[in-house]
Amino acid sequence: MQTRKVLKVIEPQTTSDGAGVRLKRSIGTHTLDHLDPFLLFDHFGSDNPDDYMAGFPLHPHRGIETVTYMISGAVDHRDSIGNAGTIEDGDIQWMTAGHGIMHEEMPSRSEGVMEGFQLWVNLPARLKMTAPRYRSVPSGQIPETETEGGVRTRIIAGTANGMRGAVSDIAADPSYFDVSMPAGTTFEQPAERGHSVFAYVFEGAARFGMDENQAGHHVQATRLVVFEDGDVVRVETDEKPVRFLLLSGKPLGEPIARYGPFVMNTEEEIYHTLQEIRSGSFPAPPFPDET
Ligand code: FE
Repeated sequence: MQTRKVLKVIEPQTTSDGAGVRLKRSIGTHTLDHLDPFLLFDHFGSDNPDDYMAGFPLHPHRGIETVTYMISGAVDHRDSIGNAGTIEDGDIQWMTAGHGIMHEEMPSRSEGVMEGFQLWVNLPARLKMTAPRYRSVPSGQIPETETEGGVRTRIIAGTANGMRGAVSDIAADPSYFDVSMPAGTTFEQPAERGHSVFAYVFEGAARFGMDENQAGHHVQATRLVVFEDGDVVRVETDEKPVRFLLLSGKPLGEPIARYGPFVMNTEEEIYHTLQEIRSGSFPAPPFPDET
């Protein structure tokens, strides 16, 4: 069993997206364009409504899956395949855009902290034009394990400690864990050899991976940690607690052609997608109840 070493530690870039939502982006930047199969990773978090109330008005997607994990706050969502609802503290929304979806995500609580994450997972060529699909998992349905030392793992996707996550049947075979470790504890999680693995530290600090001196790589919030290949991810805390997301996925190894919210395999496919948008034939009327 080989412990995965730290390949690199990335400082997120502050940017804005949607109608002006301030966020920290650590995948989908000049520093890290993608980490196959992951195309984008955003962390939004603020107690200032000016940073988030503008939201993400109606926009299309094609060729990817988007995963939203709310830590706190509330976002109203609706889409062109008839889903509508509110994503709140601890909830997950896993959306397969496939051949096309239109949706909007608008914050509905204008006080307090809004914090969460959005991840884009690529679809393999054979599924890029699949039918769109939407899955919503309320916080209470996300399995959680706790070790004797008090390390808590929320299992959004994948398997940890023999427990299966809330979302399965995803092409990239992803794992997605939210791990909280008290001070002075150890966390170990097997990770499939050959899969891309990253951690996103958003509270506290810990030592990730193990090197020859067994010391590991000290990482403080807020940073993204990319791991080398290996069999197991190891994290240790010293005097501080830590909270991080741990994600893994099977690389697709296919060409990537991306333009904004569309991610295909060739420039020609992007060109045709833009033509569909212009001509109004993109396969998604805005909302079923308004057409
Ligand atoms: Fe979107």
